[in-house]
Amino acid sequence: MARIVMKFGGTSVANMDRIRAVSAIVKREVDAGHSVAVVVSAMAGETNRLVGLCREAGEPAPSLDARDVEYDAVVASGEQVTSGLLAIVMQNLGYRARSWHGWQIALRTDNAHGKARIEAVDEEALGSAIDGGEVAVVAGFQGIAPDGRIATLGRGGSDTSAVALAAAIGADRCDIYTDVDGVYTTDPRLTKHARRIDKISFEEMLEMASLGAKVLQTRSVELAMAYKVPVRVLSSFDPPDAPGPGTLICDEDDIVEKNIVTTVTPDFDEATVTILAVPDEPGRAAGIFDALAAANINIDMIVQSSSREAGFANISFTTKEIDLERAVDVLAEQQPTIGFKALQSDRNVAKVSVIGVGMKSHAGVAATMFRTLAEKGINIQNISTSEIKISVLINADAAEYAVRVLHEAYGLDEPGNPART
Ligand code: ADP
Ligand code: ASP
Ligand code: MG
Repeated sequence: MARIVMKFGGTSVANMDRIRAVSAIVKREVDAGHSVAVVVSAMAGETNRLVGLCREAGEPAPSLDARDVEYDAVVASGEQVTSGLLAIVMQNLGYRARSWHGWQIALRTDNAHGKARIEAVDEEALGSAIDGGEVAVVAGFQGIAPDGRIATLGRGGSDTSAVALAAAIGADRCDIYTDVDGVYTTDPRLTKHARRIDKISFEEMLEMASLGAKVLQTRSVELAMAYKVPVRVLSSFDPPDAPGPGTLICDEDDIVEKNIVTTVTPDFDEATVTILAVPDEPGRAAGIFDALAAANINIDMIVQSSSREAGFANISFTTKEIDLERAVDVLAEQQPTIGFKALQSDRNVAKVSVIGVGMKSHAGVAATMFRTLAEKGINIQNISTSEIKISVLINADAAEYAVRVLHEAYGLDEPGNPART
């Protein structure tokens, strides 16, 4: 008898018909004799609605910390509703089922309300409940913080709830059911040529998630990699008795043929800030990035270039669109100390990345990217690389087109690819 964690995202539980469809998939695994914990998201659109209500309630905003604690109390309710509804439906099918909230498990987090990290899972009660034949329906996205209050795990956090629980109970599998039937070579919404990948390494999936592919929350992949949890991405829209193969996320060593480029991943949620004419002397960059770090603003893709004026430099970086306003405010406040001349910002940018473990041993991947974009007249504003990815920052209006031409250029349009080493 295996222990299994199954997770269903917002679209998969969008209404009662969908929740009934999900119950049939859960039933399949329970009837096969497995111990099953199910993690559910809020119904599609519900978290956005709750976030909107918090915004309305918070004008003018009280202190950030206080707001985040109550924000968590509000937005965590979406998952509680779904867990209760699925438990009722399972009970009506004749199963012993109950809902579990984060604090009841307990799934313990740090105090970073709104984007908390899981620190420990008290798995005993839940583990013995499922081994005793109960279907545990866990509200995803939430845990309990050291302050005794509900904490949420950041948007998309139900993936992380599922993987953390799977790691804690030593689950044989963690199956993430969503509205696509696996991980694709690029977001299937952007091109009909996107193709499902059978197996992808933790490392590639981690890059994909952190570079903007929405399909799994980054932290869930980190946990899966650290605790070696075999994760599958599957569709909740397949018939319960004929599930598709989905995508297995596994160790690189378990993939015999390595991809040179596995995926093309766009991120539309980017913005740039350019700081003009910073005095070119030690300590100025530190001043800038210390101030941004103190305000908890994540930055990426930093470029320093010399200014037209001798003795000065321009520094630009990218950040998430949602942090742009705060980044500009923080820097404007620091202007007298840092001593730059002007600030510019641009929301109309996107990052497009190509990712693949085979890049480690293959030359020419970057050249193909730059040549392809140049041939299509797409200007590159910024470049960053790691061992297994190359990212470029381009005009947002060109990003979807860039995804399609790069997808073709790396042979991903053709059946049988991703290209293998
Ligand atoms: P859920 O609500 O189930 O958590 P998400 O919306 O968070 O689902 O993630 C699934 C979505 O991720 C898909 O609908 C798809 O548009 C998007 N996506 C982005 N990149 C990819 C990719 N490379 N492969 C599969 N899906 C992707
Ligand atoms: N409901 C939360 C969100 O929309 C968590 C999740 O779905 O994973 O972000
Ligand atoms: Mg999601």
